[in-house]
Amino acid sequence: MSITEPVGAWFHASGRDLPWRRPGFTAWGTLVSEFMLQQTPVARVIPRLEAWLERWPTPADLAAAPVADAVRAWDRLGYPRRALNLHAAAVAITERHGGVVPSDVAELLALPGVGDYTARAVAAFAYGHRHPVVDVNTRRVIARAVHGRGEPGPAHKRDLADMAALLPADPAAARLTNVAMMELGALVCTARNPRCDACPIAGRCAWRAAGRPAFAGVRAPVQKRFEGSDRQVRGLIMRELRASDLPVASAELAAVWADDAQRERALAGLLADGLAVGDAALGYTLPTG
Ligand code: SF4
Repeated sequence: MSITEPVGAWFHASGRDLPWRRPGFTAWGTLVSEFMLQQTPVARVIPRLEAWLERWPTPADLAAAPVADAVRAWDRLGYPRRALNLHAAAVAITERHGGVVPSDVAELLALPGVGDYTARAVAAFAYGHRHPVVDVNTRRVIARAVHGRGEPGPAHKRDLADMAALLPADPAAARLTNVAMMELGALVCTARNPRCDACPIAGRCAWRAAGRPAFAGVRAPVQKRFEGSDRQVRGLIMRELRASDLPVASAELAAVWADDAQRERALAGLLADGLAVGDAALGYTLPTG
């Protein structure tokens, strides 16, 4: 028996009831949730996702809204370029696809802000197509259970081939395998403290059978500390802009971060990304239009 059957059975018994896994969840909801989940934990995404879909239940609804509304509603999910991209994707879906989120991976990849993972996730989870969907949790489970390595290392093209080799032929079973492998990595086969005693494939895991040897390969890059980073300063500036309907003066921004050079660098990045507009004379706002 492959590892997919016990992982699927475990998921039925122990997987979380998350909004995007419920019957009837729309393809648009799946796309929005995947944008939000790209770099934000589940618990922070859920309330923001529900508010977002209540306000903009279809791509056309978001496309018709000012982009500043999308950035403001993104609130503190972080990496707000995703809000700009999601708005641009809604416009593209409305203009190019009649307001219907496409189901084809190539068409999804052509949307702003949609990368390989998101395109496959939408095609598989919203439309039931048989594609390997591989996130960091899936990669960790495969690295350990299949390859006997404690860590997956940096993302690699072979990750998709590894997952494709595990997928059952039936699309519904493949969809279950995709989501169940992710969930196992999120809840049981975690990065720091894998709970092998609670794992449905403990008896088939190559890494466990080898005595969980230390990882000697190349590690995936570690995200830099948030505290004191340009990312933190960008977040503080964005908070000021979101909170104001009027242009925010440079002097007001100076109050959010004392280091002039770092604050200017962060502001320049926001202007370059289109997340802020304005200048030192007129002040700064969220994007218009
Ligand atoms: S036995 Fe342990 S290391 Fe292997 S897949 Fe399960 S949780 Fe991960």
